[in-house]
Amino acid sequence: MTADRIDELRAEATAAAEAAPDTAALEELRVRYLGRKAELPNLLRGVAELPPEQRGVVGKAANQARQALEALIEHRAAQLAAGELDARLAGDRVDVTLPGAPPQPVGSLHLMTAVRREIEDVFCGLGFAVVEGPEVELVHYNFDALNHAPAHPARSRSDTFYVATAQRPADPGDQVVLRTHTSPMQIRSMEAQPPPIQLIVPGRVYRPDSDATHTPQFHQVEGLAVDEDITLADLKGTLLAFARAIFGDERDVRLRPHYFPFTEPSVEVDVSCFMCAGTGVLPRTGVRCNLCKGTGWLEILGSGMVDPNVLAGIEAHDYDPERWQGYAFGMGIERIAMLKHGVPDLRLFYDNDLRFLEQFG
Ligand SMILES: [Zn+2]
Repeated sequence: MTADRIDELRAEATAAAEAAPDTAALEELRVRYLGRKAELPNLLRGVAELPPEQRGVVGKAANQARQALEALIEHRAAQLAAGELDARLAGDRVDVTLPGAPPQPVGSLHLMTAVRREIEDVFCGLGFAVVEGPEVELVHYNFDALNHAPAHPARSRSDTFYVATAQRPADPGDQVVLRTHTSPMQIRSMEAQPPPIQLIVPGRVYRPDSDATHTPQFHQVEGLAVDEDITLADLKGTLLAFARAIFGDERDVRLRPHYFPFTEPSVEVDVSCFMCAGTGVLPRTGVRCNLCKGTGWLEILGSGMVDPNVLAGIEAHDYDPERWQGYAFGMGIERIAMLKHGVPDLRLFYDNDLRFLEQFG
């Protein structure tokens, strides 16, 4: 009777183990058939109480059944574990070539960066090198070496950010400012190399102003060319090529007399309005052009022939103004971008509102 029961248990447990769907179900079976309270181990423990002639047979059968079941469960457990690992690996597989969810749009250059690079490209094509310089600058380079008189109003603390130093320098030229223009690099570049020279200087500049057309920090591109026999005509030709590259092939430029301390003569440069083709009146509608306010011209930059005093002040190399002449110009990158893209308020460039920035992506 007992031996039959052992066979029955063994067959039942074997079938159940082979059908177990996962390791959790298999563990349940192990407890049910081999656990401390299970029937088979109980039979084994009760062997000693059996009549002597049955002990050997039942004990042996029960032992064999237990060992066989243990081996089967161990084998089946290894099988199930391997299958579950495969399934988990397949389920966790990440396809790194798929886009994120949801797909993120690729960013784009800020309009200021895009326009700066566009300007750099134009002048590189005209043979200019691109150089950069310090934004924290000495008064010597920012004003003195650029022929600014000691009482020039741009030097006042309401027009220039002065950087506090532990002691007021003995030489006023050693005072430190945030550069108010990119022009100091004219001097630094000429000190660094003999003529001829032809370069532009893009970069950040600083002035204590803040309204719709001024921000305390803004961007300029400085230009400097020094060579023999350079005239105002070279300046005009260069700026005409620049204006046409940026604003369109049909553009024209005009020079108006002006004053800057470091150029002589100095001129303001206007480009013919691209909105009304320089007529001051919008085509078809006949309405006055708002961009150029009906004048047909847009002011884009200041420039002039390098003042002989500036050239004569360069000691590191021979920039003798009797032999070398040059022209210089400086423009606001923001102004170029505002004109070209119809941006009404300078501060939009720095608000980082995506609705604005994405229009130029
Ligand atoms: Zn116009």
